[in-house]
Amino acid sequence: MKKKRTKIVATISDMKCEPAFIKELYEAGMDVVRINSAHLDIEGALRIIKNTREVSDKIAILVDTKGPEIRTTRCDEPIQVKKGKKYKIIGDPGNKTSGDTIYVTYKPIVSEIPIGYSVLIDDGELELRALRKEGDALVCVAENSGILGSRKSVNIPGVKIHLPSVTDKDKAFIEMAVGNEVDFIAHSFVRSQQDVLDVKAVIDQYHGEVKIIAKIENEEGVENIGDILESVYGIMVARGDLGIEIPYEKIPGIQRMIIERCIYSRKPVIVATQMLHSMINNPRPTRAEVGDIASAIYSQTDAIMLSGETAYGKYPVEAVKTMTKVALEVESNKEKFVDRPGLNIIGEISSYLAKVAVETSIRIGAKGIIADTIMGRTIRDMAAYRGFNHVLAQCYSLRTMRELALSYGVYATYQEQRKSVDEFIYIALRNTTRAHDLRDDDIIVVLAGNFSGRSGFSFIEVGTVRYLRDLVSIKEEH
Ligand code: PEP
Repeated sequence: MKKKRTKIVATISDMKCEPAFIKELYEAGMDVVRINSAHLDIEGALRIIKNTREVSDKIAILVDTKGPEIRTTRCDEPIQVKKGKKYKIIGDPGNKTSGDTIYVTYKPIVSEIPIGYSVLIDDGELELRALRKEGDALVCVAENSGILGSRKSVNIPGVKIHLPSVTDKDKAFIEMAVGNEVDFIAHSFVRSQQDVLDVKAVIDQYHGEVKIIAKIENEEGVENIGDILESVYGIMVARGDLGIEIPYEKIPGIQRMIIERCIYSRKPVIVATQMLHSMINNPRPTRAEVGDIASAIYSQTDAIMLSGETAYGKYPVEAVKTMTKVALEVESNKEKFVDRPGLNIIGEISSYLAKVAVETSIRIGAKGIIADTIMGRTIRDMAAYRGFNHVLAQCYSLRTMRELALSYGVYATYQEQRKSVDEFIYIALRNTTRAHDLRDDDIIVVLAGNFSGRSGFSFIEVGTVRYLRDLVSIKEEH
C-alpha cells in the first residue's frame, strides 16, 4: 500500500495498550505513540512503552507532561453553578470547594486577576467573571449554568500566570522518559524560551537525549513563538487549551502561522486536538472533521494528532485509518493548490545538496530519495522542502530513526555505519525495496556521505533501482 507523507500521532491509554491493539494502529498508519501524563501514572506509562517497543522499534514515543496548571480543589459532591449567581474564588489548595466558594490550587489568583476578566473552568464549560476583590476572595458572577465537579481545569485568558514551568510530577515523568529512551517530551503551556530551558535543565540533570516539543496553548506561547522555536526540537499546536485561552476564531490563523514558522526553522510541527472528535462515538467522521484534517495537510503540517479518539474512543483503528485515507488523498493533489516552501539554504554543502536532491527527485519523477544520516538534521532539511516522494533515511542511530517518525515524508531505517558507498547503497536498497514497493525501473536519488566519519552529504547519485543494484559490485554474503 502507498505510504502517506503526513505523520500520525495517536494517544494511547494504559487502560487499552495491548501489543495487538498498538500493532493495529501502527498498521493503520500511526507513526508516534503519545502518552498523556495527565491521565496515568509512571507504571501505566511504562506498560505502554514496553508494549509499543514490542510492536516495532520504528514507532517513536512521546510523553506529554502537564506543565504549569491551575485546578479547582476537590468537592464532596458536584456543585450546580447557576447563571447570574455570585461565587467566591479563593487561592488555597488545602481547602475543599463547596457551596458558593470555589478553591483553586493557585494561591496568588486573587491578586493577579484584574476585575472584568473571566475565569474559565472545566475546559471552558463554566465562565465566571471577576466583579470585585473582598479580602482573600475574588467575587465573580457566573456567566452560564453548569455542573462543577472535583479538580477541574482553570484557564484565565489574557492573564500571565507565575507558576514554575516544570512541576514535581513533570520531573518524575521526564526522569522516566530519559531512563526508558523515550524520544520526545511534549511540554504543556510553554510560555517562553525560559520554560523550554527549564525542561532542558531537567533532561540534562538525567543526562538524557530526549527531544523537546513545545505545546503552544496560550497567548504568551503564541507571542513568543520565535524565541521558543530557537530552543525546541518541534512544536505542537495544542488547539484544545488554545481554544480556551484565545478566541477560537483566531485558531486557524495561528495554526497556519505556526506551521509556516516551523517549516522555515526546519522543525517538525504537530496539529493536535479534536481532529476526529466525533469518532470517539461514531464510526464515520463529520465532513467538517475531514476538512480540518485536509486543511492542516494543505498547510503543510508534518503531523496530525489523535487524543480521545484513540485513547478511549469506540473506533480508534477507524480513526487512524480515516486520517491515513484523507492524508493520501490530499497528498495526491496538493501540489496543484499549494506551493512548496521556497526555503533559503542555510550555509552548508549538505543543506545545498539536500535541496538539490528534493528538486531533482521532483523533476525526474523519482520514487524516493535514499539518504544517510547520523543526527537527522539534513533529513529534516529535506522534509522541510515538502517534496513529493519519500525520503528513505538510513540512520546510523536507532534514536535518530525513531525521531524521524515525526518528519513529513520521511521513512527511516537503521543501518550500521559503512565504510564504502557501494555497501551503503546495497544495504539501503535491501532495507527499502520491499517496504516501499520499489520496482527495477523506479528511479531513486541517492544522497550520502559520512563514510569517513561525520562529513555530511558529499554526493548525489541518480538511477533506476536496477542501475543502482548493478552498480554495486558487492556479493550477497554482505
Ligand atoms: C491540547 O490542549 O490541545 C492538548 C493537546 O493538550 P492536553 O491534551 O494535554 O489538554
